[in-house]
Amino acid sequence: MCLNRMNIMKKEEKDMSKEKVVILGAGYAGLRSLKEIQKKNLNVDITLVNKNDYHYEATYLHEVASGAQPPKKICYPVKDVVDPKQTTFIQDTVEVINKDQKTVTLANNGDIDYDYLVVALGFESETFGIKGAAENGLEMVDIPSALAIDRHINEQFAKYNETKDESYLSIVVCGAGFTSIEFLGEITDQLPRLVSQYQVPADKIQLTCIEAMPTLLPMFPEKLTKYGIDKLVERGVNFKIGAPIQEVTKDEVVYKAGDKNESVKAKTIVWTTGVRGSSVIGRSGFDERRGRVVVEKDLTIAGYPEIFMIGDVSAVMDEEIGRPIPGTAQLALKQGDTVAENLEAKLNGKETKAFTFKSLGTVASIGNKEAIGEVMGSYLKGYPASAMKKVIADRSLLKTGGVKAVVSKGRFDLYH
Ligand SMILES: Cc1cc2nc3c(=O)[nH]c(=O)nc-3n(C[C@H](O)[C@H](O)[C@H](O)COP(=O)(O)OP(=O)(O)OC[C@H]3O[C@@H](n4cnc5c(N)ncnc54)[C@H](O)[C@@H]3O)c2cc1C
Repeated sequence: MCLNRMNIMKKEEKDMSKEKVVILGAGYAGLRSLKEIQKKNLNVDITLVNKNDYHYEATYLHEVASGAQPPKKICYPVKDVVDPKQTTFIQDTVEVINKDQKTVTLANNGDIDYDYLVVALGFESETFGIKGAAENGLEMVDIPSALAIDRHINEQFAKYNETKDESYLSIVVCGAGFTSIEFLGEITDQLPRLVSQYQVPADKIQLTCIEAMPTLLPMFPEKLTKYGIDKLVERGVNFKIGAPIQEVTKDEVVYKAGDKNESVKAKTIVWTTGVRGSSVIGRSGFDERRGRVVVEKDLTIAGYPEIFMIGDVSAVMDEEIGRPIPGTAQLALKQGDTVAENLEAKLNGKETKAFTFKSLGTVASIGNKEAIGEVMGSYLKGYPASAMKKVIADRSLLKTGGVKAVVSKGRFDLYH
């Protein structure tokens, strides 16, 4: 259901007695908080705002970008979660949050007001100001950008046959974090299909991954990381480690190698060096760093007890190490649960509770059937790690999207 301004005003008039709760973003954090708030049947008027009328599982974007999965496998309609008796869904883009007026400006529907706001606008690509990265790198942040990568690779492979220019078969992945490693795993799985579809010589395909840091996937023990990286090297990936990228042009990536610059020619340059929180956060004048706001213990923000920030726009401090916990879907989902409880507490004039988080583990896939990871203190690799990743993802799909979403995605078959 998508409403115009007139409908929104009517609804505002009708429900004057109720507190207005506005949720921005229908990603992991936003949808989970909506689902849990609705379950509580609070006497509130809920509005959910999201750019699209579908939710996408961002943790699977690399599968769409590599052509391994069509978007419909990782998306489901927002309306599957919206209870129309409690919630109005507005499909629109948030431009700015006017925190002192308690309103949100939308691109097409003007301003909407709130008593409580849940900000869950997620992540954007971070270029770190590197010359040419924004213009020439292909980002992977949502369905259109993931589809654009897949389309681009297909077009370049087709062009190789017209020109015999080998740079059309060269793919550079910038950064070697989680997203890059998972994309490399998937694209190497897909190469046999691409070779056969475009009749290109497999031995002329070049895959390069360029990373500024001297170590890869530092969250895993060295032996486990080596297992994963060796798999990718066996599949033909050439790693340039400790090689900060200096510039990205239309068909070249320049990086530092020791004290000189070197470069790789490539017609496909995938930019996955890292993410930041939504730019709406900075535009709205919040006290932020890279689009993230350090939240209070109950997930509200300092000076604005009516605003909850969750997911990739929030920074939850890990008191033990004095650094924020890395933004993940797992963290976003757990925050969604806590927001529902704390909203209920606030509405009832009760004490809010402190957010706590214990990670279930971290698993990086390397294609469809391999992975490396740590799950509840155990290190896994190969098939068991891959199966565990899918089980964790399907559990969260079930909890937010429901049985319908799991069945419609064919997720009972772990290995599609
Ligand atoms: C390839 C990849 C693999 C990953 N793998 C894992 C993993 O294995 N495990 C894990 O835990 N995490 C993983 N992550 C990280 C995880 O996806 C993010 O931490 C998570 O998506 C954050 O959830 P979120 O709800 O904050 O934001 P998002 O999932 O980004 O959702 C934000 C929502 O807000 C909407 N939106 C954004 N801006 C606007 C606007 N201006 N107006 C209206 N709507 C807007 C978006 O359309 C989207 O629906 C991975 C990420 C990527 C890219």
